[in-house]
Amino acid sequence: MSVNILLSGSAGRMGRSITEISEDNGCHISCPIDVGDDPIQGINDCDVVIDFSLREATLPLARLCVDAGKPMVIGTTGHGPAEKSEIESFSSKIPIVWAGNFSTGVNLLFYITEIAARVLDSSSKFDPEVIEMHHRLKKDAPSGTADRLLEILKNSRELTDKQIAHGRNGMVGERPAKEIGSHALRGGDVVGDHTVLFAGMGERIELTHRATDRKIFAVGALRAAKWIRDQPPGLFSMQDVLGLV
Ligand code: NAD
Repeated sequence: MSVNILLSGSAGRMGRSITEISEDNGCHISCPIDVGDDPIQGINDCDVVIDFSLREATLPLARLCVDAGKPMVIGTTGHGPAEKSEIESFSSKIPIVWAGNFSTGVNLLFYITEIAARVLDSSSKFDPEVIEMHHRLKKDAPSGTADRLLEILKNSRELTDKQIAHGRNGMVGERPAKEIGSHALRGGDVVGDHTVLFAGMGERIELTHRATDRKIFAVGALRAAKWIRDQPPGLFSMQDVLGLV
């Protein structure tokens, strides 16, 4: 049975991509909304809400999902800590899949990075850095995917946000061992490149994923929508959807 979807951000790049492939992926966009549209009626009539809009739009939409008891798939990135924790708290009432990146390949990169970070721990003397590149129109930095990669490395090395160096400029001194570098490149029409780099003495490991078509995110978001329809309240990642955890 086709899943009826309220799609927020329907006129955007991701919204158009999701709409284009929805019917072939067992879903129907029953209510496309964009800036200025009222989601109330559409929420009541849908099975799942998908949000690929603007950071400021996610929280009010999530409140409506709680009121209507509808599952939510969140792809929008760039939320601050306060917004994040309020939205996450709603997962006690509704199921939410929240992923900074819905591609299968990137979620495998998360998985492999976790393993690499475990092996190349702080005693290994490998220095971790995250490099990402996106198109010139992207508004937030680092990307949600880079944020997740940084979080995996940070947790593995028991570091704090203050120990993440976002770019380096001027006489910054030698690289401290307890540091993770983060570098955001912007330009052209790059869909999304992410590299996790572990630089050691005499060797270097680079784990790279390159997205060339944003349909990979659309396919993942629709897969998440089909999966979450039957889930109990909770906060889920794309790794849950793919069975990687
Ligand atoms: P975009 O700018 O092309 O589209 C965003 C759309 O949201 C626009 O049409 C805009 O009018 C609309 N919008 C703005 N305010 C709104 C509101 N209050 N209610 C409903 N719609 C509203 O951006 P995009 O490339 O489609 O990306 C959208 C979001 O998804 C960004 O945050 C981006 O970083 C994120 N993204 C996530 C993934 C992922 O896999 N998680 C992949 C690609 C992009």
